[in-house]
Amino acid sequence: MSNSYNPHEEIMHIVDKAAQLLGLEERDYTQLKYPERELKVSVPVRMDDGSIKVFEGYRVQHSGVRGPYKGGIRYHQNVDMDEVKALAAAMTFKCAVVDIPYGGGKGGITVDATKLSKGELERLTRKYTTLLFPMVGPHIDIPAPDVNTNEEVMAWFMDTYSMVNGQLTLSVVTGKPIALGGSLGRREATGRGVLIATREIAKKVGLDLKDATVAVQGAGNVGGTTALLLHREGCRIIAISDVSGAIYNENGLDIEDVVRFLRAERGRLLKDYDAPGLVRISNEELLQLKVDILVPAALENAIHEKNASSIGARVIVEAANGPTTTAADEILQKKGVTIVPDILANAGGVVVSYFEWLQNLQSVKWEEEEINRKLENIMVKAFHDVWSMAEKHGTSLRMGAFMLALERIVAAIKLRGITF
Ligand code: GLU
Repeated sequence: MSNSYNPHEEIMHIVDKAAQLLGLEERDYTQLKYPERELKVSVPVRMDDGSIKVFEGYRVQHSGVRGPYKGGIRYHQNVDMDEVKALAAAMTFKCAVVDIPYGGGKGGITVDATKLSKGELERLTRKYTTLLFPMVGPHIDIPAPDVNTNEEVMAWFMDTYSMVNGQLTLSVVTGKPIALGGSLGRREATGRGVLIATREIAKKVGLDLKDATVAVQGAGNVGGTTALLLHREGCRIIAISDVSGAIYNENGLDIEDVVRFLRAERGRLLKDYDAPGLVRISNEELLQLKVDILVPAALENAIHEKNASSIGARVIVEAANGPTTTAADEILQKKGVTIVPDILANAGGVVVSYFEWLQNLQSVKWEEEEINRKLENIMVKAFHDVWSMAEKHGTSLRMGAFMLALERIVAAIKLRGITF
């Protein structure tokens, strides 16, 4: 990451532009430039060797104007306050794009989760939950999984919150295991949303998904599921990567086999996968492949000023949060690359989180078919709302998405008014 790159400033720059295009006055939205609340905690953990390590944790509540704060918890060595602030703000806009009644929040712990045992991860999560306790709740702030956190981590979060709260509180967190108040379809939801967004953009740009070539950066829950679903749609996944590098086969990878291999055990990496005809390339080379569709599904800042001009894709569907910097975005637009922005493309996860929360609050269980149908309706509507906004103002889809979201958030700000 270059020193000048500040993800929070990047997103606020886009918000300013969106406001200008909408003809808003500074006073209409200025509060969105500052998170409503920022919490930093120190999380002591008893390590397996008996030592005590203290980790830094965060929770940022960006805006609660449209509903309770909502957003994931990330475990990664690069987590810091600026990143969490940016990701929290992105959640506010994401929830507004798909028009679900949430504000935006995000949490994180600065930790390389791959270096921790399961027991250490559990103690870290439980301690972090107690430190967040006064700030979260089913109608206050509802966390969910993000990079390196999963259903098991959410189960620990829910259990610890419930213990401190003195009552079972399923709806305090989403992305839980099915056996513990989780929703059918939640695990695949972000990937399914990316698939729906890809289908819609393909129709618009006249791209046939049958045999379309795809490169996916990232093979976690989002990257892996997206690759599988696009493959089942008829696409040819010619490359996929993780932190250990990328694998490539110009005729298409056996992606079912790749994902099965990765998911068989915690910590499995692509460097240990092998198959006939497979070529190893770097993450940078993956981004440069001549493909119809590139899906960045890893971390922010993957496509930046220095590599943007060598991107070989026709369409980029942003499954990760913030994978394209503003400078890169401008270069790609000039090159004629169509980008489906993160706050639209990856919103499927939070949409099904919303369904999970609704089910928990009402103690009911929805069928998977119903969930997928409702997700499809919301994603398709959001896509077309964004497309119309972009078309009307002659802007990119990213700007269209931010304009649509900002319009909705500002309407809520005006109706609520500024108290005192
Ligand atoms: N972490 C996911 C995101 O960035 C999901 C958030 C949620 O479900 O609340 O959208």
